[in-house]
Amino acid sequence: MSNNPNNLSGESTISTWLADPAGGPVFRAMLAQGGQDGESLRPVSKMALNRLVQVSQGAFTQEMVDALVLRVEAGDIPVETAAQAPVEASGPETPPWVEKVTTGRFSGKTIIITGAGSGIGRATASRVAREGGRVVAVDISAERLADFAASLPEGNIVSVSGDITDDAAVAAIVEAAGERIDGLANIAGIMDNMTPVHEVADDVWNRVFNINVNGTMKLMRAVVPAMLAQAQGSIVNVASEAALRGSAAGAAYTASKHAVAGLTKSSAFMYGPSGIRVNAVAPGPVITNIEARFDSELGASRVRRAMAVLPDPVEGDALAASITFLLSDDGVNVNGVILPSDGGWSAA
Ligand code: NAD
Repeated sequence: MSNNPNNLSGESTISTWLADPAGGPVFRAMLAQGGQDGESLRPVSKMALNRLVQVSQGAFTQEMVDALVLRVEAGDIPVETAAQAPVEASGPETPPWVEKVTTGRFSGKTIIITGAGSGIGRATASRVAREGGRVVAVDISAERLADFAASLPEGNIVSVSGDITDDAAVAAIVEAAGERIDGLANIAGIMDNMTPVHEVADDVWNRVFNINVNGTMKLMRAVVPAMLAQAQGSIVNVASEAALRGSAAGAAYTASKHAVAGLTKSSAFMYGPSGIRVNAVAPGPVITNIEARFDSELGASRVRRAMAVLPDPVEGDALAASITFLLSDDGVNVNGVILPSDGGWSAA
């Protein structure tokens, strides 16, 4: 008889591993070596082990997955004490969300998407392309853009690598789009280092504002004339929970995302009668490549306290679902909203 009757592999989810009578003790023993326990992985428990390798930035490797599978197959199962064994979960597990593509939703439309090389931007660009849109994919990283375009060989994707804060790059993006621009998703952005205002360094403040606010504004300014001429268009800016409250990040990021909310509302009001809708999505925690550092003791202690009610992080495709809704004609009657897409965090 096989020592791995449940066929545990890298494709099995973390919760499946942890609940398995053989896989659980083996996995927990490995986690304990790194000073972790199964509970620390609860927020990502629906993720396949292979996905954890991709998102853990080297902390969890393919070799570790292979070693886990080999150990289960060899029947080398450590004996656990009652204290090490998992506490039974209460209630049934929620089923995983599965993206449902709406074929043709973006057919005939040209959509500019910034930050398309990674995370939320990449997931949004992918969804628009798979729903028939022509995507002008923008990122400062040419390598990430090439990787994205290669992942969708059938997609109608025009890649433009450039910095959204650079006027020449913005002009090149608009030129690549051509005469008609149906949508703009301003997704590229960076975090700060969680510093309260008395500790903010000028370079952090300027960099965060330059990319999150100036870059967003420059692209809006560049696409609106085409949208006014065609009397139609949809702009979606990516804000953040930090656009809604003061407890999600440092002063620079929080102020920059409040500015994005202001830009969104002003433009929605100005251009609504001209057929242009301007909305924002405010994501909660999302598993991406964005870097957040805690460079301030005060910032770390205050922000971590507010994170007690943080919902589990999601993948970029869950944000792409909200962003493409607003970008598409399905958002027909929605203008000027800052839509939290955060699993309910903003209601806490
Ligand atoms: P990410 O780092 O995975 O992707 C951002 C992409 O933007 C990267 O590929 C990067 O190269 C690109 N980029 C950065 N600066 C650029 C510039 N100047 N010009 C062109 N491209 C540039 O991050 P993400 O988490 O997908 O972030 C996307 C947006 O979502 C950001 O605006 C971020 O503030 C917002 N957001 C993210 C989270 C989260 O939990 N990940 C939460 C709230 C809001």
